[in-house]
Amino acid sequence: CGVFGIYAPEEKVAKLTYFGLYALQHRGQESAGIATFEGTQVHLHKDMGLVSQVFNESILDKLPGSLAVGHTRYSTTGSSRKANAQPAVVESRLGSLALAHNGNLVNTVQLREELLQSKFNLVTSTDSEMIAFAIAEAINAGAEWLEGCIQAFHRCQGAFSLVIGTADGVMGVRDPNGIRPLVIGTLEGNPVRYVLASETCGLDIIGAEYLRDVEPGELVWITEEGMASYHWSQKPQRKLCIFEMIYFARPDSVMHNESLYSYRMRLGRQLAQESLVDADIVFGVPDSGIPAAIGFSQASGVAYAEGLIKNRYVGRTFIQPTQTMRESGIRMKLNPLKDVLAGKRVIIVDDSIVRGTTSRKLVKTLREAGAVEVHMRISSPPVTHPCFYGIDTDSQDQLIAATKSVEEIAQQLEVDSLAYLSWEGMLQATGEDTNSFCSACFTGDYPVTIPEYVKRSKLI
Ligand code: SF4
Repeated sequence: CGVFGIYAPEEKVAKLTYFGLYALQHRGQESAGIATFEGTQVHLHKDMGLVSQVFNESILDKLPGSLAVGHTRYSTTGSSRKANAQPAVVESRLGSLALAHNGNLVNTVQLREELLQSKFNLVTSTDSEMIAFAIAEAINAGAEWLEGCIQAFHRCQGAFSLVIGTADGVMGVRDPNGIRPLVIGTLEGNPVRYVLASETCGLDIIGAEYLRDVEPGELVWITEEGMASYHWSQKPQRKLCIFEMIYFARPDSVMHNESLYSYRMRLGRQLAQESLVDADIVFGVPDSGIPAAIGFSQASGVAYAEGLIKNRYVGRTFIQPTQTMRESGIRMKLNPLKDVLAGKRVIIVDDSIVRGTTSRKLVKTLREAGAVEVHMRISSPPVTHPCFYGIDTDSQDQLIAATKSVEEIAQQLEVDSLAYLSWEGMLQATGEDTNSFCSACFTGDYPVTIPEYVKRSKLI
């Protein structure tokens, strides 16, 4: 999911939130929502669809206020329906709160039971709503905003980057492991105003300046007085999701002082050093494989060329292609450049293989377009374990690398050769402490313990 928050009484906060969400659209295409606070009154609009489908000028005009919270949803917990769209707005003794969540809790069964005992009517099925209710419960028992929120966060296990709006201010929070990203930006002016976003691309679009990340286990509280910081967790540690860096986040977003484009290029260079093969051209699977393919070309000297063109206007379609389209192999998303590929030995670079079905189709497409050899290189290690922290990977039986060796996968994909980047290579290329990432989908070493029944739900 993508989250966004802003405190700026002199600005049109709903409009700025709209643009922030627009830049974060890649983080979730299922639903979008914005809540604004005008004094103690909350205005909320949320619906299924892309940010540009859910909002228009007149809807944004009906969302006045001095602060806003926004969300784009990608479903992991809870089914895909309107009631699960966020922000979740919940009432408490101190007034309404609007919560937008990125991540996934792993102790929802326990939390749900506890909350049901407190007689909360859990209308929707998301873990995000449970966090909002846990906060309300603490507030109703007498706590003030900060204290109540911190009490609730201690009951949550898993991944949560949150933006929470109240009549008094906006809060930005990361779980003790900082699994999902959350950054703080500033809007110039007197006084300086603060913005929160899942990635820096959400700041860039509204002209906000990146200030710093919200730290793991930190809460920032943004009000008329400025920004205050609280370290609420006794045991914070850095375990940023490495998948954010290799694939999920936008290439122009900055993490650890450089764009992910540069990091992904370095992954490609490392990949070339580890598994070079004789070939005529190298290209990436658009869009996410492209920076690594460029890096591969730079390090190996194999010429870079575009072999596949992406239809930029393909969003989600719910219309099934006709049988004739399927048979004639018309591809909605990626079209091969026959004259570039004909007679060539090609290296195709992708960021990951999950089930393997798309990769297999792609290889077939390249051969049909005339490629004489197809070598596949992957800029991450084999995905062997499912994610429980908010990236919607399949259950373990669906992950091709969980049950097959690299050679067996190569056979199944019908490639001439296949190589993955080493786990060390992926982490060393970050230039950071290699312990400061979650890479559980490659190792099964989960930084937050997953209860057995939750593991079973993904067939581990
Ligand atoms: Fe990211 Fe994988 Fe960890 Fe999930 S398990 S948070 S996808 S690195």
